[in-house]
Amino acid sequence: MTTETVSIPPAQKNMEDIVALCKRRGFVYPASEIYGGINGFWDYGPLGTALKNNIRDWWWKCTVECPPLGPDGEPLSIVGLDSSIIQNPKAWVASGHVGGFNDPMVDCTESKKRYRADHLYVLRHKDEGPAGHMYAYIGGDKDSEANAAKKLSKQYKVDLPSPDLHVTSLVQISTDEFHRIVGPDTKKAGTLTEPREFNLMFETYVGATATDDDKAYLRPETAQGIFLNYKNVLDTMRVKVPFGIAQIGKSFRNEVTPRNFIFRSREFEQMEMEWFCAPGEAPQWYEFWKEERMKWWLSLGIDPANLRFRDHDADELAHYSKMCVDVEYMYPFTAPGFGELEGVAHRGCFDLTQHQEHSGQKMEYVDQARNNDRYVPNVIEPASGLTRAVIVMLCEAYTPTPERSGAKEMLKLKPKFAPIKAGIFPLVNKEGMPGIAQELYMDLRQKFTCQYDAKQSIGKRYARMDEAGTPFCFTVDGDTATDQAVTVRDRDTAQQHRLALDQVETFLEQMIGE
Ligand code: ATP
Repeated sequence: MTTETVSIPPAQKNMEDIVALCKRRGFVYPASEIYGGINGFWDYGPLGTALKNNIRDWWWKCTVECPPLGPDGEPLSIVGLDSSIIQNPKAWVASGHVGGFNDPMVDCTESKKRYRADHLYVLRHKDEGPAGHMYAYIGGDKDSEANAAKKLSKQYKVDLPSPDLHVTSLVQISTDEFHRIVGPDTKKAGTLTEPREFNLMFETYVGATATDDDKAYLRPETAQGIFLNYKNVLDTMRVKVPFGIAQIGKSFRNEVTPRNFIFRSREFEQMEMEWFCAPGEAPQWYEFWKEERMKWWLSLGIDPANLRFRDHDADELAHYSKMCVDVEYMYPFTAPGFGELEGVAHRGCFDLTQHQEHSGQKMEYVDQARNNDRYVPNVIEPASGLTRAVIVMLCEAYTPTPERSGAKEMLKLKPKFAPIKAGIFPLVNKEGMPGIAQELYMDLRQKFTCQYDAKQSIGKRYARMDEAGTPFCFTVDGDTATDQAVTVRDRDTAQQHRLALDQVETFLEQMIGE
């Protein structure tokens, strides 16, 4: 029997194993798989949908239904919204997305691949003369980094790791030096084009004629739907500044390089909240929401060692943004580095002012608590990805269990988020055991997502539940009829103990509620 499994550092987890488990157990499938898939799109299977919904519901509960208390101990007021994916295209002109939602991209004329310029890094030798090669690789892609290092170390006959090799971001390299760069997927130099702007918004046409006048966009973020309804909410909901509007929903970006499983996809879900406040109070609210958001991520059961804040440097900030911090997670594909999970931004009054100018509608607020001061509220925006949260939870929970018989992997999900809360088994299919187990199942299924399983050995049934992340299994055995008790088996420790049948429901309630 195994003892408690310790949490495994992300660097020791293999992304391919995680993706394979997700496919095998119905968490995530490639979209349109029978037609060869479509790059950047994913379908969530039965268990993935349940996991995603559980995270979504928890965010909604913590943000809208039961928001935290403010710094003064007073309850905060946050209302929910579900705005349309397609809006008047003028909204995207005002928001700056039509003119500026561009990523500079680089094409490779040889491999025909396209990369985001800010994702490419170049490895060069410190004494690199004007004729020498530099090797480009995709940031966070350890294989191509190792490849580039290998080629360069061979060329210069230096041992790795070498203090002589330097990494520079591609965007910092002058375009007259591009002819010296060997692209990530080629062998020869000079195949990368200069960075070019590429708008990330998906276009569509509204109505039958499909002329330019009918052009519309799929939203690239849920936030703008909130700004568009700021006045409606203010006029109809009796809210007073400061208050928040929250929204969860799909967003679409024609990402240049969708990659790392569902980390960066072209269709994804966001959980965003715009907090409208008086301009003078914005810095305090920024600090407040920064801390609250970290607390929330920790409430998902993520190891604090795998989370961190990264403040944006001044040159990284959008021109309207006054402060911005990312909450980052150590993904197996970024380890020992971190990657973005959520951005918390102080957006000033940029968005409302833009919509005021472009629509001609006043966005001013008359603050009765401040001598009827008139101002356009400032906004603090915690913007996170729901599907990004799903990959974080899968990576965090994924735990190889080579010491166990049966499944060699488990998902150590916090019970609250597990798609299936309990497995209910008869030890064998005789001596009245299936009857009692069925009865227990019929009882529990009214409250919890449960699975009754009577097929194959008990070890195999436990293993199936471990892979699905089911925290508890209840087994009816030969003693149950007389002692009115079942065996509870804990996913994480594989330990078992006896529990009275009439205590099972309370036990599950307690364990899931934590
Ligand atoms: P990047 O610079 O990496 O493209 P971003 O900083 O533009 O991302 P935001 O616009 O701040 O991202 O989006 C807020 C959140 O939405 C991100 O923190 C992330 O969790 C999620 N998100 C953004 N783009 C994607 C995507 N293509 N796939 C999945 N989630 C995404």
